[in-house]
Amino acid sequence: MELANEPEEPGGLEAAIESAPLIGANGGNATYARCIEFFALWLDGFGIGDVVPAGHQPAVTAPRPPRVVLRYLTELASEKRTDGTFRYSSSALNVTHASINWDHARHGFVPPGADPSIEQAMRHFRRMREATAPVEPINLHVVRKMLSCLDPLGEGTVGARRDRGLLLLAYSASLAHQELAALQVGDLRFEGEAGVLVSVGHGLTESRRRSRTVRILPGARPGSCTACALVAWLACWPLSYGSVKGAPRSPARLSGSGAHLCVGEQSSSAPLGAFLFPQMTGSRTLIESPLTPGALERVLVRVGRAAGIKAKGLTCTAWRLGFVLEAIKGGAAFSDISLHCGYATSKPVKELADRFGLVERHTTVSIGL
Ligand SMILES: [Zn+2]
Repeated sequence: MELANEPEEPGGLEAAIESAPLIGANGGNATYARCIEFFALWLDGFGIGDVVPAGHQPAVTAPRPPRVVLRYLTELASEKRTDGTFRYSSSALNVTHASINWDHARHGFVPPGADPSIEQAMRHFRRMREATAPVEPINLHVVRKMLSCLDPLGEGTVGARRDRGLLLLAYSASLAHQELAALQVGDLRFEGEAGVLVSVGHGLTESRRRSRTVRILPGARPGSCTACALVAWLACWPLSYGSVKGAPRSPARLSGSGAHLCVGEQSSSAPLGAFLFPQMTGSRTLIESPLTPGALERVLVRVGRAAGIKAKGLTCTAWRLGFVLEAIKGGAAFSDISLHCGYATSKPVKELADRFGLVERHTTVSIGL
């Protein structure tokens, strides 16, 4: 089966995965069913991307032994485009893997995906992709473009207010996704003109980053101010899980348009122990569970798409690297950036600066003499 030099085709597995519904815990079933169709055709002896004769009835898929599933995943994982890059991303492979498990489970069979050989192979596929695909950092220009696609600050719907707060905080505090997910309302402390203090990573046991307290100063304009966005989001509460009860779809306009909301009096009845960014389906229902990495990426991808940015580049890593690069360009010392991001050393910042040809500016220490 020759797979390496197949022409690019607009449809196929890749398109099916790319068109996956963006929101909803069970919204992926249609995508899973599509993926299973491709698996069934492969079981019938077709190559990936082969033209299938009309009227062909694919084989029943489940149950399949792990070795067959492993062969299929390996074949997908090895397939390359004509420019030598992998055709299927880690997430495409993850979706395929999950769809096969899903197909087994719904027919009452043991999902083959938990087999150690498959788990090991999936880790290997991921590592190969990380090693060969350098991440393109998301710069300030892109962030501004994304913000411009959300409703104006203070007037937005519940969903738009959450997304604005989430985007700005994730970027300006350079949060890893598990750090963002773990944040509670009580981890914020608003200090007026001194901005907002965010307590990051406390209570996370498996984070690769250090827990820290990050200060985010008020933005140059209210529309791009992280503290203002958080004030506007918290003003939507009382929200309760199961619905966006108590908060109108378009929450009350906050006074002081054109002025910073973060400097004046604020009132919010958000309980301190609540997740700062609960999961939300279609801006209608709040789910009392931490934002998963997948849910966070879906928010980024949804807002990014609205701003005309390709979904592939909107990963959490690209987001964090963008912040670090902007901070270097802004003249921050490498050690300060590392502390802000929770890195144990300045090495990751230095490496990134080298990769992009940026140098650290010399800082001055004044003791007031
Ligand atoms: Zn502000």
